[in-house]
Amino acid sequence: RCGKPSIVQAWEEGRRGSSTAGAAPPLNLPPSDLQHQVPHSLNSYLPHMRDCAQNPTFPLKRLKLFSLNDYLGLSAHPDVATAAAAAVSQFGMGARSSGVVGGTSALHRELEEGLATLKGTQDCLLCPTGFAANMAVLTALTSMGGRRVCIFSDALNHASIIDGARLACRGGSATLHVYRHKDMAHLEQLLGSLPSNALALVITDSLFSMDGDFADLQALAALRARYGFLLAVDEAHATLVCGDRGAGAAEALGVSDQVDIHIGTLSKAFGALGGFVATSAVIKALVLNKGRAHVYSTALPIPVVAAAQTALAVSNREHWRRPAVWSLVERLSAGLGVPALSPIVPLVVGGEAEAMGLASKLLKEHGMHVPAIRPPTVPRGTCRLRVSLSAAHTVADVDALMAAIKSSSGTLNVSTRHEEKAGS
Ligand code: PMP
Repeated sequence: RCGKPSIVQAWEEGRRGSSTAGAAPPLNLPPSDLQHQVPHSLNSYLPHMRDCAQNPTFPLKRLKLFSLNDYLGLSAHPDVATAAAAAVSQFGMGARSSGVVGGTSALHRELEEGLATLKGTQDCLLCPTGFAANMAVLTALTSMGGRRVCIFSDALNHASIIDGARLACRGGSATLHVYRHKDMAHLEQLLGSLPSNALALVITDSLFSMDGDFADLQALAALRARYGFLLAVDEAHATLVCGDRGAGAAEALGVSDQVDIHIGTLSKAFGALGGFVATSAVIKALVLNKGRAHVYSTALPIPVVAAAQTALAVSNREHWRRPAVWSLVERLSAGLGVPALSPIVPLVVGGEAEAMGLASKLLKEHGMHVPAIRPPTVPRGTCRLRVSLSAAHTVADVDALMAAIKSSSGTLNVSTRHEEKAGS
């Protein structure tokens, strides 16, 4: 009943409708940029297969998506699509082997160099995904033979950091110390008991994916100067989003050169897929040779590399994109009367039933997809809707979202919890 034909039809209708559906773009765009509205108004059928089964016409409903990580709206940029298409017709699809065997093409190297320039590092290593990048970094750095490694990790770090750290500790040469979320005093206390011959690695997300708040990278840089640890920062959500050049939160906070390992993904603001590790030549060599998630996995598909490279170029050229998404963050924050710190805006409502109920109302009554996030991803009692904003959204989209939230949330107490944290 919800087989391929209706989905394809829905998709095509979404596309056809897109030229008239988009409200005015956020800033002064060239006409072709209207196409950027497409991914956010496309019919999204996957999360709603159940509704689809109950109601065969459901997939034809157009949805506004506030559930994507395409922060700059680059995934459907015409230049990005064209670059991917040109690369596939010229070079084919797959890289056909691991990056350490024969999978690293000139295009891969060019992208690595572009990312190293963005991050201001000596070099960069592409990985199959951001998840693999964290796994590769953590396992490579803890397999240095002889030297004990202590990993210090923020309690709210991404799953790939948690899994990478756990895996690294399995061999017995590393130990994991989790510090309370952004609690620098707790980290310092843990650092105080570091064995004298141990190598310390502190790893943190820069922009936390479920709370939308930022690590205190300046405090971490100060601690690094005092304790001499390696600082690894996962800028998955902040790269191209933060900083004047889009290098991330470390750039915005003026501490880029105090970060030893910049981890990133190409699957969010780049609108493509893949991960990367921007760092020194020495650390790159270590991850390249010892990071098993990199070594034993096929390199990124060539069209994906071409798409990411073009996305990087577009973000450097179309300067309006970063301010556009940030102005939507401000608008949402002011309109809902809750502090929003980044394009990830958590609307914490408490219980699972409340979160699911609100998400369902937004979906069914307003055609808006705002995912409900529940345990185990977030702690019990802090279930939330996670709004993701993008430069592909318009002011009208955000105004409609706010109106829908206000009319659907009833007596629910909606908060981003940033005010509580600031006070705590
Ligand atoms: N790190 C963080 C902070 C993330 O949020 C994510 C994706 N959710 C990843 C790493 C993994 O990136 P990828 O999707 O490219 O594997």
